[in-house]
Order: sequence, then C-alpha cells, then structure tokens
Amino acid sequence: MDCIFCKIIDGSIPSKKVYEDDKMLAFYDIEPAAPVHVVMVPKAHIASADDLNEENSQYVAHIFSKAGEIAEKLGLDGGYRIVNNCGADAGQTVFHIHFHLMGGKTLGKMA
Ligand code: 5GP
Ligand code: ZN
Repeated sequence: MDCIFCKIIDGSIPSKKVYEDDKMLAFYDIEPAAPVHVVMVPKAHIASADDLNEENSQYVAHIFSKAGEIAEKLGLDGGYRIVNNCGADAGQTVFHIHFHLMGGKTLGKMA
C-alpha cells in the first residue's frame, strides 16, 4: 500500500521513534509545529477518523491510553494538546489516521 505512515511502521521509511508496541507507533513529526511534536499512529491502516467503527476504534482507545506516558517521557509536565485532522478541510495530508501530540510551550487557544 502506498501509505507513508504504513512505510514508517514497517521501517521502509526511517523515523525517530518515541514509543512503539504491537498496536501503535509514536515518532517525531518531520515538520514540527511546536517545540515538541510527535505523531501517534495505529498499526492498522485506517484512513481517517471518518473510517472508525466499533471494531477498529480500540486502536484509538489504545493510543489515548498511552498518550500520558509518552508525554511524560517527553517532559511535557505543563500539559499537551492532541489533535486529529479529519479530511481535506481540516488539513489532513496523510490518510492514515494519526494524532498529533504537541507541547513544550504555552499553546495558543484553539477551538
Ligand atoms: P496531517 O496534516 O495529515 O494532520 O499530518 C501529517 C503530518 O505528518 C504532518 O505534520 C507532516 O509534517 C508529517 N509527516 C509527513 N510525512 C512525514 C514523514 O515522512 N516523516 C515524519 N516523521 N513525519 C511526516
Ligand atoms: Zn497506512
């Protein structure tokens, strides 16, 4: 499959990994939008939040269950923001669902 994040998961595209287990991978974003910016992806090709259902949403629950641990490892003591862009209007550019984990400064108001 021609998916950048599937290739990062299988190792054919290198990445700077922060956390990995059998269900997810977290790695540094190549174009950081905050002092600390990591992308958390499931090890299943789900195109976007629009494609979630009862069966595959366990991957999202798993990612959120590990986010605090990852943030702690990254030293984000003051808090962090998790963002999911769904679809073109939201600016989604990679169609393998992912959650941006950002922090390292006081982030501006959003939403
Ligand atoms: P989106 O815009 O779809 O919400 O987020 C995609 C993110 O993936 C962007 O922040 C972009 O910088 C990041 N990205 C795209 N290609 C690569 C890559 O090859 N390696 C890494 N580490 N990040 C990537
Ligand atoms: Zn994929």
